[in-house]
Amino acid sequence: MGRPRAGAGSAHDPTDRLALRRVNLTHLLRHLRTNGPHSRVALAAATGLSKATVSSLVDELLARRLVRDVDVRRSDGDRRPGRGIALSPDVGAVGVEINVDYLAVYGSDLAGRTVIEQRVGFDATHSDVGRSLDDLTRVARRGLAEMGRRGIAPVGLTVAVPGLVDVARGVVVLAPNLGWRDVPLTARLAGGLPGSLWVGVDNDANLAAVAEQHAGVAAGTDDLVYITGAVGVGGGVIVGGRLLRGADGFGGEVGHLPVDPGGDRCGCGRLGCWETKVGLAALIRRVPPGAGDGRRPGPVLGPQERVTEILQRLAAGDPIVAEAVADIGRWLGHGGAILGNLFNPRVIVLGGYFAELADHLIPPAQATLARLAVAGPAARCHFVASHLGFTAAARGGASVMIERVIDDPTAVTLEARPPRSRGTQAEAD
Ligand SMILES: [Zn+2]
Repeated sequence: MGRPRAGAGSAHDPTDRLALRRVNLTHLLRHLRTNGPHSRVALAAATGLSKATVSSLVDELLARRLVRDVDVRRSDGDRRPGRGIALSPDVGAVGVEINVDYLAVYGSDLAGRTVIEQRVGFDATHSDVGRSLDDLTRVARRGLAEMGRRGIAPVGLTVAVPGLVDVARGVVVLAPNLGWRDVPLTARLAGGLPGSLWVGVDNDANLAAVAEQHAGVAAGTDDLVYITGAVGVGGGVIVGGRLLRGADGFGGEVGHLPVDPGGDRCGCGRLGCWETKVGLAALIRRVPPGAGDGRRPGPVLGPQERVTEILQRLAAGDPIVAEAVADIGRWLGHGGAILGNLFNPRVIVLGGYFAELADHLIPPAQATLARLAVAGPAARCHFVASHLGFTAAARGGASVMIERVIDDPTAVTLEARPPRSRGTQAEAD
C-alpha cells in the first residue's frame, strides 16, 4: 500500500476526507507500534505527513485515549527530554480460548504487552453447550474485570474455538471435540458482557497463526504455516501477511489432508488424514505405556502425562519410543512438503505437543520435507517450535481485536476511564 498523505486525491468530498483521515490515523498508530515513541516532528518526517496534519491527528488520538504524551530523547542533541507520543497503555483487548480440557484467557494493551495470561481447567466432554457457554462467559468476565483493575479498558474480545467457524456471523458451525454444532456464539456471549465490547469468534489454530506472526518465533514473517498437535491436528496458513480463510472460512484444515487412503479412520470419519499419522493419539497408540516393574500395568495417564512420559523415555534412550517419534517426524515432513508445494511458507511453526517434542521431531521432518517438496532445499522452509505455549490462540484473539482498533481508530467507543492501579504481570496456573 502506498504512503497515505493528507490532502492527496479527491479530498473535496467530505466522505473522502473522513476516509483519508482514518487511513492517516491508522498509519500513525502502526508507525508507533512498529517503531516506538516519536515526537510529533519525527512522526511527520517518518510518515510524510505535514506537521500540522500530524498535530491534528495526534490530538484526535489523544482524545480517543489511544496514545499518550511521553518523554522522548531529542534529535538535536539537547539532553533535556522532548515531548513525544506513544501508544496508550490504557486500552487493550482480550482473547479467550475454549478447548477440550481447559479455558485460557490472555489480555494485552495496544502495544501488545502481556497484561493477563491465565489458564483454568475445564471438561468439555462432561458439559453441554449451555454449561460450556456459562463457564466461558464467566472466564471472559473475570479476564475483563482483571484488565479493568489494572487500569486498562478492553475494546474487544475474541473467542478461539477448536472447530469450523463462520466468522462473519459469529457462529461455530462444527466443533466435534466440544460436541458443538451451529452454536451462535457471539450472540450468546454478548448478553453476558458489556454492550460496548466488540465480541468475535474464530478458529483456534487460525488465531494461533496470527499470534505467531505478531509475537512468536516467526514474528514479522509474512508467509508461515502454523500446525498444532493435540489429539487432533489444527492449522492456520498466513500467505503474504494475510490469514488464508477460503470461500467459506474453512481453509487451513491441514489435519485432514488425505495422506494415506489405506490408513486409519480419522475423527472426521475419513481414512488416512494427516492427523491419523501425526496427532497425539497416533503417537500414544504406538508407544505402549511404561509398565512399572514390568509385571503390573502402570497407572492410566492423560494425554499430557503421556507426553511427559514419552519425553522421559526418549531421554533414557528407549528405542521403541525413539522410532515412533522419528516416524511422526517423517510424517510431519510429508505433510509439510504438501504445504510447502502449495504455499511456499518460510517457516512451519509447530505448536501443541509438537513443540514439546520438537528437538526429536524436527530433524526427520526437515529431511523429509527437503526430499519430498518439489523445490527441495531451494524453498528454504524451516520447521520451528512455537514458544507461545498454551496461550497462543487466546493471544491471537486479543491481537485480532487490537488490529481492529488500529484499522479504524474512529470506531472505538470507550467506557468511563477505569481507576488506575496498574502494573504488568504475567501469571499462569
Ligand atoms: Zn480427518
